[in-house]
Amino acid sequence: MSEKNLYTLIPKIDEVISWESISELMEYIPRKILVDSIREEIEEIRNRIKMGLDEIELSSMILELDKKIIINAENKNSYNLRPVVNATGIVIHTNLGRSLIGEEILEQMKTISTRYSNLEYNIENGTRGSRYSHLEDVVAEIVGGEAALVVNNNAAAVLLVLSTLAKNKEVIVSRGELIEIGGAFRIPEVMEQSGSKLVEVGTTNKTHLRDYENAICEQTGALLKVHTSNYRIMGFTSAVEAKELYDLKKKYDIPLIEDLGSGVLIDLSKYGISYEPTVIDSINNGVDVVTFSGDKLLGGPQAGIIVGKREYIEAMKKNPLTRAFRVDKFTIAALEATFRYYYDEELAIKNIPTLRMLTMSIDELEDNAYKLKDCIEKKISNLEFRISIEDEFSEVGGGSLPTEKLPTKCVVLDLLNMSVASFERRLRRFETPVIGRIFKDRLYLDLRTIRLDDFNIITGAIDYALKANKGE
Ligand SMILES: *Cc1c(COP(=O)(O)O)cnc(C)c1O
Repeated sequence: MSEKNLYTLIPKIDEVISWESISELMEYIPRKILVDSIREEIEEIRNRIKMGLDEIELSSMILELDKKIIINAENKNSYNLRPVVNATGIVIHTNLGRSLIGEEILEQMKTISTRYSNLEYNIENGTRGSRYSHLEDVVAEIVGGEAALVVNNNAAAVLLVLSTLAKNKEVIVSRGELIEIGGAFRIPEVMEQSGSKLVEVGTTNKTHLRDYENAICEQTGALLKVHTSNYRIMGFTSAVEAKELYDLKKKYDIPLIEDLGSGVLIDLSKYGISYEPTVIDSINNGVDVVTFSGDKLLGGPQAGIIVGKREYIEAMKKNPLTRAFRVDKFTIAALEATFRYYYDEELAIKNIPTLRMLTMSIDELEDNAYKLKDCIEKKISNLEFRISIEDEFSEVGGGSLPTEKLPTKCVVLDLLNMSVASFERRLRRFETPVIGRIFKDRLYLDLRTIRLDDFNIITGAIDYALKANKGE
């Protein structure tokens, strides 16, 4: 049959849409998505004919057409943003959603977003209220500052603070603290955006108190300390602590700002994790304004939290940037619920997923590793890999505690009949993607970030990956 005649064998869109297997999809897939999928799959057949498909190959493609359309349409119809299994052991995984929110917090978010609320309403007086009032007391009470303000993220918080306190003025920062964190947040550039002028003092490895003092002049608007959250300078070093800067800021009457980044509220050294400066320490050291993230070590929703002197916080509220950076009610609901756990440290550790994962005992990790291994061995009969449990280290992530190594347990798969790279790729392409770590040609699944209800997904993904290898 000539190429031209082959084209006449291709069914038309109107015809395909009336096939039972296709028309029944319209119950849950919008017609437009369905028609687009049909058009794409028909176009694919046309391209194949152009490349020399013969009549027999063509009829088998037409036989397969409805299956391909269904897969295509279901793909198009599924959410782009969807859950994955984090088996990397990196707890605050920036690419996988940073901090997780507990079920109880979700309940509060659900109530607040499916019903009307007093978001900006003063129930007592029956007048207009402020969305920030819901967080002010609870945050200030827990971290000890006079007042608090919450914006979209910590990058916005730093920009707002600088723009309010130091616009057209100089801000003194140590050269050892001119950080860049993921997503192009660089202190010098943020400062430029805020309209303040960066004055660098000291050197990369050493900055002394006198360096700060020598730089203070008429134009100085603030002293800024930036926590080097995602790197450490080691060896011959010296930095000036906020506590030491306190006398200086008193003497010259200029505000002292500290960007803490992670915003840990509990001294985690009790749980075998290196000491990380807490927000409470900063306030106690006399820092006037502290900024930190809501979704790093705090374990809440994405937010930037500003705590400190009332006069400065009030000035920030009047800055138009506050309106541009304002948080929505989901964030306020989730953040209030997260902060409330911190009234009781044990409750916080138990209920905030980030803290729970970071402080998990090695016994619990090992227990879970055996359970996962069992689950895999039971579900997958024809084992095409060696499976073992090994000691490894997990990371905190999120640019927090970069040198910390948390002892953990991993289930390790050593593939016998396929490359670890293609196995890992298949796991990622499962309906709920499983993201593991490849090391020395083996696949590592770190139990620290795996939930118990992930076990069945993981075995499903392994099964899928092995079958795909056989072309099933
Ligand atoms: C993470 C971090 C930021 C940015 O916080 P986001 O909440 O991601 O905007 C700013 N400063 C420091 C020191 C950080 O660690």
